[in-house]
Amino acid sequence: MPYRAPVSDFQFLMDHIIGFDEVTKTDQFSESTPDMVDAILTEAAKMCEEIIAPLNRAGDLHPATLENGVVRTSPGFADGYRTITEGGWVGMSASPDVGGMGLPMTLTTAVNDMMSSSCLSLQLNPLMSQGQIEALEHHASDAIKDLYIPKMISGEWCGTMNLTEPQAGSDVGALRSKAEPNGDGSFAISGQKIYITWGDNDFTQNVCHLVLARLPDGVPGTKGISLFMVPKFIPDADGNPGKRNSLKVVSLEHKLGLHGSPTAVMEYDGATGWLVGPEHGGMAAMFTMMNNARLGVGVQGIGIAEAAYQHALGYAQERTQGKAGGSGTIIEHADVRRMLATMKAETYTARAIALMNAVAIDMSTATDDAGWKARAAFLTPITKAFGTDVGIETANTGIQVHGGMGFIEETGAAQFARDVRVTAIYEGTNGIQAMDLVARKLMDGGDAAFRLLEEIEQGAEAAKATYPDLAEAVWQSAESLREATEWLVAQSDLNQRFAGAVPYLRAFARVLGGHVHLGSAMAGDAARVKMASFYIKRLLPEHVGLLAHVREGADDLLAITVDDLVA
Ligand SMILES: Cc1cc2nc3c(=O)[nH]c(=O)nc-3n(C[C@H](O)[C@H](O)[C@H](O)COP(=O)(O)OP(=O)(O)OC[C@H]3O[C@@H](n4cnc5c(N)ncnc54)[C@H](O)[C@@H]3O)c2cc1C
Repeated sequence: MPYRAPVSDFQFLMDHIIGFDEVTKTDQFSESTPDMVDAILTEAAKMCEEIIAPLNRAGDLHPATLENGVVRTSPGFADGYRTITEGGWVGMSASPDVGGMGLPMTLTTAVNDMMSSSCLSLQLNPLMSQGQIEALEHHASDAIKDLYIPKMISGEWCGTMNLTEPQAGSDVGALRSKAEPNGDGSFAISGQKIYITWGDNDFTQNVCHLVLARLPDGVPGTKGISLFMVPKFIPDADGNPGKRNSLKVVSLEHKLGLHGSPTAVMEYDGATGWLVGPEHGGMAAMFTMMNNARLGVGVQGIGIAEAAYQHALGYAQERTQGKAGGSGTIIEHADVRRMLATMKAETYTARAIALMNAVAIDMSTATDDAGWKARAAFLTPITKAFGTDVGIETANTGIQVHGGMGFIEETGAAQFARDVRVTAIYEGTNGIQAMDLVARKLMDGGDAAFRLLEEIEQGAEAAKATYPDLAEAVWQSAESLREATEWLVAQSDLNQRFAGAVPYLRAFARVLGGHVHLGSAMAGDAARVKMASFYIKRLLPEHVGLLAHVREGADDLLAITVDDLVA
């Protein structure tokens, strides 16, 4: 079934659920009128449906390869990339001062969702550039900004992020790459980086690597890390790609999925680089890129969930099996209906959370308000982990809807599951996201969390007269979540929080989902009411078990010794 972009869902969420009108009321984003939003969504949908989605299978069947040190990309990817860059989609949210369109992150998020559905492997390339542009805007010198950002926005050059080393994965502070001053303002970067997404390609004139490395006086751990711009070709005096830098792709990984995205082992051998941000301030600068990418990766999960759902829906409407009644196809069976309704409701929930997250980012950019900043920071790990979990679960259910054909590659159902699996791992594993949520993001005493819970309860109050049962269920779930949040905030031993971090994050997303679906029932048509009822009665109750897990703390878990595990 060909991909159809869910433009009406984006529009409904923007008009009724996520508070996008607040964004358009700010001076900064006042040009995002309904007509402009409609035009952008429609244009992006057309590109994704007609140009990008047809490339997805080719990327899977014909992976990127390394030939004599040169990366050759999958068939059609160069043209697809050109279409994306010529449409201006890379610099949608970049500031007009540096050649961007200055549009809200909310719109970029919707467009990234569509591009992820269409071809995740290819979409990763502009996603990396978007993150790098934001990091440079905030932390680079004017000289670096002026030279690199316009080229990245135009797509002539693209960006990567280089954190991971063999001994430094989740523990970035363990990295060993070195930076030695050259005495002329530049630095010599040496070390090996692994798993570098789009480490090279054969369609941009230059590849701009943002590399984390340690200066000679850098202390051990994250506090001694600095960030460097290390281009594949060193720009000449006119800003054109000049001398080849001393860096190379050593090999490409053979992966479970995302075959079209070259994942490189990179070697830097005294490569020339320039500092981005202050010395030893690399992690703060890289966090700008990582936060952008965390929202982006959550949205990748949602995009794949949408594509997997559409695929399964199409198959279920054609396959006849058993005494199904009605159309005679498997979509008439109650269990298949359950699977499809779950896929649809979950994708919608995760999408709404990601867009709420993007609205909070836009509001903090436009107003510099601490409350919006805290809300964006709180929602980011939820968007990343829940969005990618939904992607994985939905793609998996998509295979189940297909029966045996789901396990056969030709249907494409398996590719979604293979491609999306890594999204729960990269950009900080989902476990690390959950630990961030219960530790750093609750350091405000739970303020950002409690504000969200107040909104959820207000929404439930407002819906009480119209949908009393649904509203009561959502209100109760928010109360349970409030009690669990208070319990977590009271734990000074972080292990007590970490033991239940993953279930807590999921419970928060669940309850937010209740809020979103209840709001959709209030504002939408009969179909949205039925979907809200399905979600609130059948999926929301999961929060009870999740929160019971949270409040067990760590003692019984850590009492299970290594010996017990190997016994
Ligand atoms: C396809 C792909 C593309 C990638 N792209 C990039 C890229 O472009 N740039 C880049 O720099 N990196 C990239 N990565 C690397 C990715 O970010 C790391 O794989 C990820 O951060 C996890 O690190 P790791 O693989 O070393 O796993 P580990 O850190 O060894 O983790 C193993 C397990 O232990 C858990 N764990 C680790 N530490 C803790 C802790 N303190 N507390 C609790 N649990 C813990 C993890 O959650 C995980 O379940 C990519 C990886 C892949 C597979």
